[in-house]
Amino acid sequence: MVKPDLRDYTRSELAEIIGSLGGKKTCAARVFDCLYRKNAESFDAMSGISESVKGKLAAGYSFAQFPVIGRQVSKIDGTIKLLFAFHDGATVESVVVPGKGRVSACLSSQAGCACGCVFCATGGLGFKRDLKPSEILGQFAACLREAGGVLNSVVFMGMGEPFLNWDNVKKSIIMLSDNKGYNFPQSKMTVSTVGIVPVIKELAQSDLKIKLAVSIITADEKQRAELVPMEAKYPLAEVVEAARYYCLARKAQVFFEYIIFDGENDSPADAEKFIRLIKGIDCRVNLIPHNPVYGAISTLPQSVRVKQFQKLMIAAGVRTYLRLEKGADIMAACGQLAGQGAVSGA
Ligand code: SF4
Repeated sequence: MVKPDLRDYTRSELAEIIGSLGGKKTCAARVFDCLYRKNAESFDAMSGISESVKGKLAAGYSFAQFPVIGRQVSKIDGTIKLLFAFHDGATVESVVVPGKGRVSACLSSQAGCACGCVFCATGGLGFKRDLKPSEILGQFAACLREAGGVLNSVVFMGMGEPFLNWDNVKKSIIMLSDNKGYNFPQSKMTVSTVGIVPVIKELAQSDLKIKLAVSIITADEKQRAELVPMEAKYPLAEVVEAARYYCLARKAQVFFEYIIFDGENDSPADAEKFIRLIKGIDCRVNLIPHNPVYGAISTLPQSVRVKQFQKLMIAAGVRTYLRLEKGADIMAACGQLAGQGAVSGA
């Protein structure tokens, strides 16, 4: 039987566990330090903790690293895709994305995804299971190593819909930002959702300092319904209103992501529709040219049309960026993660 993973517990939960084993609760800070700063690989390697507590922790818990069974590096831009395997055989991918003087990690929140967006390779896999905090922190640790110890931002935009595994994702965010552990600022984390309205509203009222990205995908409800099955449950108008509520409640900006499907939603009329939809919301828009994925819609954007679309958005006063996709040659760009593409040892 697999022992519970120490990395599934926040520091205060860990303090309770240590207290119940007869140790001092303050010892939880030292365990966090060993796990996340000193990268201890075994209980023996943990320093500053009594032998008695260490022994009891070792008897009931584990924290083995999850094996990276595949690694691919983009020849175009140096993007690195990692493939992880967990105890039950579930696999997920994470991506390390180098930019101008900065490196981002894109983490997965679920193995597979139940949302079934037709343009997304993960959606084509179906849902396998939610990831636990330890599995999310394990991805972070591996990405940090790949980045040489310095990551500038973390995005929950890998496999899965983070707001459908919100309890575990929230816990991971709290643990990643714990000042006795990685101390990674919440303000440098972004969670992206396809529009799970109740969680957007919950986040609006929470103390978390993370950023929110909402995948609008396209501004036409009928077209969105064909691309995003979740539209039936949370229609676009409700998603946008939830984003507006988030901005007002937190006095914060929201990111909107719009996927450009060549010739489908990139006309001046499409831009006008999008501008009307998000009018008055403090936002930034990322235009993401669609990436072909196996078994899904395959189109490539005409850059002239995309640039014209962007120009219209900017002319209307919307900060709009054309996102240069990274790692498309190794299927590591947006919508391409399928939990099976990395080549072992490459
Ligand atoms: S785009 Fe996101 S929400 Fe939609 S299927 Fe892919 S991973 Fe799931």
